Amino acid sequence: MKPLAIFGGTFDPIHNAHLRVAWEAAEFLGADVRLLPANVPPHREQPVADAGTRAALVRAALAGQDRLTLDTRELRREGLSYTIDTLVELRDEIGADRPLVLLVGADAFAGLPTWHRWTELFAHAHIGVLTRPGHGGTLPTELRTKIASRRANSAQSLRESPAGRVLPIPVTPLEISATQVRALLAAGREPRWLVSDALFADPALLAPYRAPRGEPG
Ligand code: ATP
Repeated sequence: MKPLAIFGGTFDPIHNAHLRVAWEAAEFLGADVRLLPANVPPHREQPVADAGTRAALVRAALAGQDRLTLDTRELRREGLSYTIDTLVELRDEIGADRPLVLLVGADAFAGLPTWHRWTELFAHAHIGVLTRPGHGGTLPTELRTKIASRRANSAQSLRESPAGRVLPIPVTPLEISATQVRALLAAGREPRWLVSDALFADPALLAPYRAPRGEPG
């Protein structure tokens, strides 16, 4: 059965490495991928752009294809938003049988034991670990123990069950970060070809990141 994969992030703003890894995961798994901008709780450092703008940026970047789509559920949720809640909700929507894959970067995966109710994640989804050569160090012992019997070695094995396996997904290393894109914009430069051309079509989209213009004197 065709898997549904989800890829979360702050997307402040979305850039070409996000798009490319999501696309490569879609092709590797034969899956549809939803991008989920995260709701950043008030006590954490706030993104530069508000939730509506970050979602609009993702929507603009995804125009012209339908394999990657935007899912704004985490932005609409009140209070703290946890991955486990998103997976439970999605599982409810897609039914018990369809494979659901949580995509995470290798570095985020190593930190999995710090996530809310992390051991329950495997009951609802597979985990696809986006693996770039040179990124992602050693895994903590409790994580290694937990996944020892869950390791999968092919995309096919993820299509054969709804949840519970862990699969590395090799992706093209692209050294782009949202931090770099924000720094360029704040310095008055254009992050062309680091982000989708579509983000330049509407000047309002990248405006929150640009240096304020001096008042005409
Ligand atoms: P920032 O620079 O603000 O920390 P970021 O570029 O890392 O942001 P996020 O929105 O935090 O962007 O990332 C969302 C997801 O995309 C995370 O799982 C992250 O591991 C992954 N990701 C970010 N940049 C890359 C990249 N260059 N290659 C592959 N995956 C990436």
